[in-house]
Amino acid sequence: MSEKAWLKNVRKVTPYVPGEQPQDLKKIKLNTNENPYPPSKGVMEALKEFDTSVLKLYPTTDAKELRKTLADYHKVEEKNLFIGVGSDDVLATCFMTFFCGEKPTLFADITYSFYEVWAKFAGINYKLVPLKENFRQDEEAYYEENGGIVIANPNAPTSIAESKELIERIVKANPESVVIIDEAYVDFGGESVIGLTEKYDNLLVVRTFSKSRSLAGLRIGYAVGNEDLINAMFAVRDSINSYTINTIAVKAAVASVLDEEYFQSTLKKIVATRERAALELEKLGFDVLPSSANFLYVTHKTRSAVDLQLKLRNEHIFVRYFKKPERISNYLRISVGTDEEMDRLIEVLSKEIQ
Ligand SMILES: *Cc1c(COP(=O)(O)O)cnc(C)c1O
Repeated sequence: MSEKAWLKNVRKVTPYVPGEQPQDLKKIKLNTNENPYPPSKGVMEALKEFDTSVLKLYPTTDAKELRKTLADYHKVEEKNLFIGVGSDDVLATCFMTFFCGEKPTLFADITYSFYEVWAKFAGINYKLVPLKENFRQDEEAYYEENGGIVIANPNAPTSIAESKELIERIVKANPESVVIIDEAYVDFGGESVIGLTEKYDNLLVVRTFSKSRSLAGLRIGYAVGNEDLINAMFAVRDSINSYTINTIAVKAAVASVLDEEYFQSTLKKIVATRERAALELEKLGFDVLPSSANFLYVTHKTRSAVDLQLKLRNEHIFVRYFKKPERISNYLRISVGTDEEMDRLIEVLSKEIQ
């Protein structure tokens, strides 16, 4: 017997590879779409006032206080909300819960690359729907037979948002499939379809605190949808680990939701910076896709994306590059940082490009 005979019993998987996390805060980090601004001061206060004696108890299994706060915020009921450890956890739970049929689950060929990882992990039959040449969703393709649909709107890494009407047509045309709309970036300029979840029992909308709420480190995401969808997700989650959301995270997340003014003010700043940076990049010869997110997806008319990424890295500026599929192999994804960070990016690029 070989020394590590147990190796044959180990699951073989190809994991999702997240963007680098350089620990030196002086680096300009524009590679994982984090928010450059800190979370609401309310979050800090909630943590300062936190009564640690409650930590001896298990948390509620449904993150009750946060569920209630989000229900009020979105004008839905608590039973319409599932809370997870970031939206990656929520989405993974969705893949385990809703796509067990034989027909293929559909998602775009260029989208959040984790979808394919979950589909493979769960042994789901899936089919990639090519985006149109202009990187817009091919609506017609979602009218074909399927066992489920996942659409990021705005899409990543393209930054392009589709209209609420297009999403509604797809949801309406697929009453026998669960349609998941990943709204990770919707606060930066997309149109949410949370308001349609009451009308369509097959629509599930997934959100995160990681981008627009500056809380990527807290790990909170959620889903909004029909009670039966939510209950099915809880049943799957409770078959793995029922106490997923810790008591401290609940307090901090609630404080964030309650500070609407700060939330809106940071969104406004990011959108203004995005528009300014897009113009500057165009002046340098980049094609910039129309962004409704907190990042820009760009390609240069003459310069190679890989080369530019390296040059930026040498100046301690991190941006994201995806090699596949082929037609995006000369694009860079640049998160919108502070005005100062974007100025530095433009400065380095203009020196490099002229
Ligand atoms: C960032 C991101 C997520 C995951 O975010 P969490 O930090 O896990 O909440 C999900 N979907 C898309 C499209 C994203 O860009």
